[in-house]
Amino acid sequence: MNLEQFLQKEFGFRSPWIKKLVGYDNSNYLIRNEDSRFVFKEYRYSKSLFDVLLAENEVLNVLKDCGFGDFPEPIPFSDGSFVKRVLIGDENHIYRMLTFLEGDFLGDTSPTLDLAFDIGAFTAKMDIKLKPLESYVLKARELEWDLKYFLRNKRHLQFIENVYNKNLVYYFFQQFQLHVVPILPKLRKQVVHNDVNEWNILLKNNKVVSGLIDFGDVTYSPLINEVAIAMTYIAYDKENPLEWAIASLKGYHSKNPIQEQEIEVLYYLIAARLCTSVCNSANAKNKHPENTYTSVSEDFAWSMLHKWIKLNPINVLQEFRTVIGLPNTIESSVKMPIAQRHKHLSPILSLSYKEPIHMVGSAFQYMYDAHGTTFLDAYNNIPHVGHCHPRVVEAGQKQMGTLNTNTRYLYDLLPHYAEALLRKFPKSLNKVFFVNSGSAASDLAIRMAKIHTGKQHIMVMEHGYHGNTQTAIDISDYKFNNKKGQGQKDDILKTTLPDAYRGKYGNKGELYAQDAIIKLGEELQTVAAFIAEPIVGCGGQVPLAVGYLKYLYPEIRKHGGLCISDEVQTGFGRLGDYYWGFEMHDVVPDIVILGKPMGNGHPIGAVVVTDEIAASFEKGVEFFSSFGGNPVSCAIGLSVLQVIEEEKLQQNAKEVGDYYQQKLRKLQEKHPVIGDVRGSGLFIGIDIVHAGTKKTNYELAQYLKNELRHEHILISTDGPDDSVLKTKPPLCFTKNNVDTVINAIDTILSNLKS
Ligand code: PMP
Repeated sequence: MNLEQFLQKEFGFRSPWIKKLVGYDNSNYLIRNEDSRFVFKEYRYSKSLFDVLLAENEVLNVLKDCGFGDFPEPIPFSDGSFVKRVLIGDENHIYRMLTFLEGDFLGDTSPTLDLAFDIGAFTAKMDIKLKPLESYVLKARELEWDLKYFLRNKRHLQFIENVYNKNLVYYFFQQFQLHVVPILPKLRKQVVHNDVNEWNILLKNNKVVSGLIDFGDVTYSPLINEVAIAMTYIAYDKENPLEWAIASLKGYHSKNPIQEQEIEVLYYLIAARLCTSVCNSANAKNKHPENTYTSVSEDFAWSMLHKWIKLNPINVLQEFRTVIGLPNTIESSVKMPIAQRHKHLSPILSLSYKEPIHMVGSAFQYMYDAHGTTFLDAYNNIPHVGHCHPRVVEAGQKQMGTLNTNTRYLYDLLPHYAEALLRKFPKSLNKVFFVNSGSAASDLAIRMAKIHTGKQHIMVMEHGYHGNTQTAIDISDYKFNNKKGQGQKDDILKTTLPDAYRGKYGNKGELYAQDAIIKLGEELQTVAAFIAEPIVGCGGQVPLAVGYLKYLYPEIRKHGGLCISDEVQTGFGRLGDYYWGFEMHDVVPDIVILGKPMGNGHPIGAVVVTDEIAASFEKGVEFFSSFGGNPVSCAIGLSVLQVIEEEKLQQNAKEVGDYYQQKLRKLQEKHPVIGDVRGSGLFIGIDIVHAGTKKTNYELAQYLKNELRHEHILISTDGPDDSVLKTKPPLCFTKNNVDTVINAIDTILSNLKS
């Protein structure tokens, strides 16, 4: 029996007109019989699908004659059943017939905010109707598209090719775990349509919602998931998605009031729906690689995700709270948090900016404050691979829940991480000692140098900074030479900063080095170590002049001293062309100090030395650090190394950093108060001067820093006169981010002139 004969037998249709429609995972036929249109659906049989279809029909029957809109109506077969199992050949099929709804798809129109409101209201009315419906089949349904099962989509993450996109989705999985999963059991649940999107909503005259189709994803889930989905699809193709999402939320709330705890998870649920969509697209592409087609809805989902990450969740929450009439809970001033801080903490811990920022969250190159503002982080170099990078977070969380102990036990992560780290160094640097900060690393490095050489003097760089321990302060001109500092100790020998911009020999490093050697004279014999940063951070992001280290290192060694490179700021690929700062100067140190970016914010530091230095150290008292090299630190450190590699962050630092410097140089032509632009990769200093001179301009640098803060861009200042803007963003910084910074600086400086 063919389909026509079947329809004739079952429904009494005479010569029906039949057209096959494209279906997602079943076959649909559009049937016209006299004046009426129907949709005939055919599925491969499975017991569970059969039961789900019965449940779906039950839902449709509840909505029949509801009075506020049209829904497909199930049409009975001749025996009165609505879902039929039919044996065709040796295969079982399922058949069902539904009415066809007339109308225009929302997806084919340009909606207004009023329409977004109506869609919310319509969805709410439907949900009120569905509320009493009990269905154990739908309760048992497990759909990846049901947001309560969102985390199951994580297995598709691997198929997202663009690494930035992949991280975004990965981040939202973690946020879901943190913010939604604990609340899930408390949320009210009911049967929901679960797919209120622009191709399921029908309109009359392109204006009024007339009906809703496709109950194929119907399930039993938190009611707020339904709201989140409706909000997502009205918003995801818009310039300002939040505005549209809010319009839809208002409509929903006007008919079916939303609860406070539901509002609290909405930001994350909307992100979760977008992520579900892109994960499933990635999975589909993986299954069918011949299909390279990217759907329009996938593009919209990505576009909204990129916008969503830039929205401060606190701000979004407040907007949603306002919709449902809840009071504003956003902190209006930082007075209280400042007072609280000063109650127990000394003001010697300074705060950035005239108007300090109360931070509550961060993601990649964005930071969120308690006032609802999102800041573009163009400054912090500790979250090296990005704030809260999901891979690093997961590595830490996993290991913290597995084992955390000290180096007096055997655990595989320690040698494993040590090996991975040392692989990044020249062969001669082959022993590592783990500590918990750059300061502890500096301290230990000096101790080792003194033990190994038996000498006591340390040669340090003008304006250098190496940490906060007594030893580290003693070797940091930036600290001991400060107005309030302790002064230079007798065992410290200071050398002049070979500064290509202000120094007397320009970029001729060898000449500065020769001067240094002459100045040291006999004392050169007493030097245990010479320590310097390849780019002197506190000196104002000053790269040591070309050839300086190359000349100096052999001179130091000739007289029995060691050479220490402080890579706390310059290491791990930030410099773009170089993984380590010493490579920039074409030298290999005897000791390297690591910190800051090493754990992406987790406190970890290290001293890397040669075999010989380690051997001398071994002869002394035991070295032990309670936390240094613990399994959690190793897991985190290892994940940072892997992320730098896999995400090609060094290359990104090079590409974006070059672009950044090039743009800054252009800006320099326009604004002569930019005296110098220097650095490498994403380690950049902008020297602010009095126009036409090299005279440092503290006031303007501070003004710029604080104005940029008001433009929601984080940049800081440094240098002996605190007049150099420093910008050392997380390495996931983009050219777009650079443009934002450049435009802001340009505007601030241009406004000054007018
Ligand atoms: N060395 C350098 C070059 C640094 O910039 C710093 C920190 N600013 C340190 C050492 C000290 O590191 P920590 O603050 O982790 O002790």
